Amino acid sequence: MDVVKMSNGRSSKYECLLFDMDDTLYPRSCGINVACRKKIEEYMLKYLHMDESEVPQMCLDLYMEHGTTMAGLKALGYEFDNEEFHAYVHGALPYDSLNPDPVLRNLLLSLPQRKIIFTNADKAHAAQVLERLDLEDCFEGVICFETLNNNNNNNPSLERKCNGGNGIILCKPSIEAIQAAIKIADTHPNKTIFFDDSVRNIESGKAAGLHTVIVGSWELVPGADHALGSIHNIKEALPELWEGEEDENDQPEQAMQAPVVETMVLV
Ligand SMILES: [Mg+2]
Repeated sequence: MDVVKMSNGRSSKYECLLFDMDDTLYPRSCGINVACRKKIEEYMLKYLHMDESEVPQMCLDLYMEHGTTMAGLKALGYEFDNEEFHAYVHGALPYDSLNPDPVLRNLLLSLPQRKIIFTNADKAHAAQVLERLDLEDCFEGVICFETLNNNNNNNPSLERKCNGGNGIILCKPSIEAIQAAIKIADTHPNKTIFFDDSVRNIESGKAAGLHTVIVGSWELVPGADHALGSIHNIKEALPELWEGEEDENDQPEQAMQAPVVETMVLV
């Protein structure tokens, strides 16, 4: 991974922030999630010829059991092309409901820690969402479907789990997926905060040793260290992330400096 750690001489409690993307960086009310599920159900009907009466429940059950419906379908032995699946499911989502978010943008750019996206989605969807939100350059990298399920992955322990192998898709909330992301991000869980709207992902994140923040809820859930109704409230809930920034008068530009200018997909 061609990324550079922050090296501003500060000894921060946290060095890296891992952000889920969908329903974490924008509210669920945008409708992407519901539209996405509809498209997956359509795919199951149209291309996998599944029983119409069973598809909605099965879609949900597989999602709950395997982290994504796609991972569940593969685990059941359904064979289909991953890229075609993603293209179908993400090809007609209501991306127009996502608008530039200058408030979040400024918050992210003012954070001194390394910031990385960690999503189960594919890279095309991630790129589309980040562009619509005008957040592409706020992250040093994107860990996505292709990152964890790439046959060319140099990590042999991951190779066994790749979709080209035995049909197992590596994705959240599996602990292996989270540990793989930590390794790819080249960070220490103890120095890393993980933001996600999924209770299961947060539980796994905690089990992997990460500090955790459930987003989209003011209620703490099992495994969560903090609860954020909206990612916009990050500064109120976690002021310690900015601690020490004001004292660094010798480096006043540091607070508004993005670590890198271009977001790269980590594959
Ligand atoms: Mg999410």
